[in-house]
Amino acid sequence: MQLKLYNSLTGEKEIFKPILEGNVGMYVCGPTVYSNVHLGNVRTFLSFDFIYRTLMHLGYKVRYVRNITDAGHLTDDGNVDNDRFVKQTRLEKLEPMEIVQKYTVDFHKVLEMFNLLPPNIEPTATGHIVEQIELTQKLIERGFAYESNGSVYFDVLEYNKRGLNYGELSKRNIEELFANTRDLDGQGEKKNPQDFALWKKASPAHIMRWNSPWGEGFPGWHLECTAMSTKYLGEKFDIHGGGMDLKFPHHECEIAQGKACNDTAPVNYWMHANMLTMNSQRMSKSTGNYILPMQLVTGENDFFEKPFHPSIVRFCFLQAHYRSVLDISNDAMIASEKGFIRLMEALKALNSVTPDNEKQSEFNLQEWKNKCYDALNDDFNSPILIAHLFEAVKYIFALNDGKETISAEDLEDLKSTLHAFIFDVLGLQNIEENNNEKLDQTLKVLIELRNQARKSKNFDLSDQIRDKLLAEGIELKDGRDGTTYVLN
Ligand code: AMP
Ligand code: ZN
Repeated sequence: MQLKLYNSLTGEKEIFKPILEGNVGMYVCGPTVYSNVHLGNVRTFLSFDFIYRTLMHLGYKVRYVRNITDAGHLTDDGNVDNDRFVKQTRLEKLEPMEIVQKYTVDFHKVLEMFNLLPPNIEPTATGHIVEQIELTQKLIERGFAYESNGSVYFDVLEYNKRGLNYGELSKRNIEELFANTRDLDGQGEKKNPQDFALWKKASPAHIMRWNSPWGEGFPGWHLECTAMSTKYLGEKFDIHGGGMDLKFPHHECEIAQGKACNDTAPVNYWMHANMLTMNSQRMSKSTGNYILPMQLVTGENDFFEKPFHPSIVRFCFLQAHYRSVLDISNDAMIASEKGFIRLMEALKALNSVTPDNEKQSEFNLQEWKNKCYDALNDDFNSPILIAHLFEAVKYIFALNDGKETISAEDLEDLKSTLHAFIFDVLGLQNIEENNNEKLDQTLKVLIELRNQARKSKNFDLSDQIRDKLLAEGIELKDGRDGTTYVLN
């Protein structure tokens, strides 16, 4: 079985051939840490977490790099004074690096809640200013960039004159781009409106600033990803990912910077995850059409009728393919919750199945496994994988009802395969097991408190703890090795 993935650059599903056999270098654009991540952001990072997990499960050794954008960069409207970091520092009356720290911590907490694995390297833009200055110098030396009034711009026209093709990823025609660009930022500084900033001169209001050969300023956003991806993965690496909305201009500019610096396209496979929508509109902070992950998990929102466990949110996201738009709704979450519970019940039921080596089963385990792997190898098709998991669920319940049979060997195989798909690849967590663990820890704390009460001869309190637990169906038993509990 060969892994195929959809390459946004060619618009085709291609057989994946890593540069170094058995190894994958993957870079994913990380968050801009000036505010809390919303659920839409989480979907993109979760899509790549699933891709990362799948690659590892398929046997690849992956170096996964995901950056943190913590240096101020231009806004969508191109106006330097609208820099998101600068605005937020004013709003919250905090130092820029306090903003960065606050929202980086929040980002990590949120991703951990949804059971995302950390990347192997998580570099920050502010930690790579030197590299970005060096790249800018190289681009000037090679004639692809020019200085203007303390800022440095990439010369898109020059790039195209040399037979390179600006617009190849977003399939935009350069003439069209020149005609349609508004020149809000750097008015009069650029040779052409389409030129993009590699380095920006800092205005007096701009507090995040560094020294450079062109005076005090800060790096352009596109440059940080080129600097960090090539530093840790090489001038050419396997996979570059991000949300669909980053294709243009961000990723287009990364390709141009990479080619202009190193005479080679920086990335073999470009992968783009599709958007999360709510009320059929893209989730976004700027339009107000968003929900924070914590609001969904605690139930503190007006959109969903109840709270949902992070694992159910994760399951819901993975029921859509990463390249499809997913519209989040109360009904979709309720349906996912039902499916998730059934999947977990099947896993539990599997533990009480008795194997039978005599009878033949209708269910062909090997064929089923092949179908699951086909789904994974077919551009990471999580919804098809999940559909196959439910075929196994049906089989397990038939086994439980004595309507089907399984050999001892197949039973072990089915158990370990299901565990691998559900927990390692899909990254789901067994809520019930988690809850049991929590209950166990809580009861141990109560037993300890009761022991302390008894030691200090506060028998009133120790009896109260015992009696109240008993009323809840939890019986404490004092033995020679200490106190244990029984759930009645
Ligand atoms: P940002 O912090 O704005 O750079 O966004 C972080 C990541 O979230 C980027 O890869 C975006 O493409 C992605 N993203 C933003 N909005 C959405 C959305 N509604 N659905 C899915 N991904 C999104
Ligand atoms: Zn990036």
